[in-house]
Amino acid sequence: MKTFKILIMKPNSVKKNSIYAIIGICITIAACNRPIEHDLIIRNINIIDVVTGKTLQNQTIAIDNNQISKIYSENINFSASSEIIEGKGKFITPGLFDNHMHIAHLTCYGGDTLQTRLAEFVHNGVLYFRDVGGPVDVLKRLKSKISSGDLIGPDIYYTGPMLESSPLHWEKINEELPEFTVPLDTRDDVDSLLPILAKKGATMIKTFSNIKTELYPYIVDVARKNNLKIVHDPGSPLFNQIPINMALELGVTTIEHSMAAWCYILKDEYRIELDTLLQQDTNIRQKMVFMFEMADMGIESISEERLKALCMLMKEKNAVYSPTLNVFKGFLSEIEEEIANGNNDEMLFKRKKLLSDFVTIGNYIVREFSENGVKLLVGQDNIDPEGTVKEMVVLSEAGVSNIEVLRGATLYAAEWLELTEKYGSIKPFQIADLVILNTDPLENIANMKDVFMVIQQGKVVKK
Ligand SMILES: [Zn+2]
Repeated sequence: MKTFKILIMKPNSVKKNSIYAIIGICITIAACNRPIEHDLIIRNINIIDVVTGKTLQNQTIAIDNNQISKIYSENINFSASSEIIEGKGKFITPGLFDNHMHIAHLTCYGGDTLQTRLAEFVHNGVLYFRDVGGPVDVLKRLKSKISSGDLIGPDIYYTGPMLESSPLHWEKINEELPEFTVPLDTRDDVDSLLPILAKKGATMIKTFSNIKTELYPYIVDVARKNNLKIVHDPGSPLFNQIPINMALELGVTTIEHSMAAWCYILKDEYRIELDTLLQQDTNIRQKMVFMFEMADMGIESISEERLKALCMLMKEKNAVYSPTLNVFKGFLSEIEEEIANGNNDEMLFKRKKLLSDFVTIGNYIVREFSENGVKLLVGQDNIDPEGTVKEMVVLSEAGVSNIEVLRGATLYAAEWLELTEKYGSIKPFQIADLVILNTDPLENIANMKDVFMVIQQGKVVKK
């Protein structure tokens, strides 16, 4: 509210003072009643404040240009020229980040699939991608087309290609999407590639599974010098070349996938067995037998003490965990469907058992991490416009509180990307990227699907 205080005092003149006071009040009232103008106003809305975890009821958000300019708690007389959205009974959250995407895959589909899917993400409230693996040139082009308005879609922050040691695990994908994965075998490779990625707009790199242990500290060092954060996927659920603790100690600040922590938190007796298998030239069969045994033990394979120590380490290093929980659940549902359709293959039943054990263990790790103060990111590891909210639902079902799930798709993502000045919460000077919901997501996180309206860069998104 704009008010003007006029203090005009003339000594020894009580009568005159009263007149001046009345004039002052009149001017104040006139200023209060003067309609206030903003480009866009969302009134009487319940703001989900992801910073405090509280819901601020009946607030009015004013937007000018592409920014939130002010939040009013009182009734305001707005000018008729302002566009007004009535938010009574509705809820508003910051726009969502999906933190584990490989969006370049969408460019392999023909027709208008790319545009349709990207727009669907926006309609579902997903306004930013953290893309963790794809050809850097494709991602750079997509980002620029989206920011110029040629394509409607979420803004993209990207790593560029998967970085592996030869032989490349993902080589097959390169046939369809060249430079999806590239080798990083020597210091020369690191020296030449990382500055190019930074120059092409990558703000982070993705290290994958089989990368050489002796090369890893050098990669981290060169990444740091090029202002590139590191997203690390240790690969196999147990047999990790760069295990979580090593990555964290070196300065990696995101670990991908729910099972990444498992090898570190195994009970001591199993860790000894695991180390022996890793050191010896063990064949894949022996490793698989061990993995099946551990999976079958479920959470009994896990040392509480080591899990707590890992949580401390994650917090100390300010690292986040991106569980992509729905991936295993998705595989499991596919197998269950095959079985339901009459496929009696014995291997199918074995895989079903293994995956359901992984789901149990992954859910447990994620819940314990969250309860012990480790920040989780929401990421789908898929290209499904509904996948972000599906992951949120699965995290909630695993026992993560709804506000922590929401933070994982908003505040924590912005924090990790160092974008909190502009994104991740609802307050003045943030970019007006907002999702209005018909129902309360803190009651039930699945209400994130119940989108009433999306505002991107201060503009209402039209379907
Ligand atoms: Zn992935």
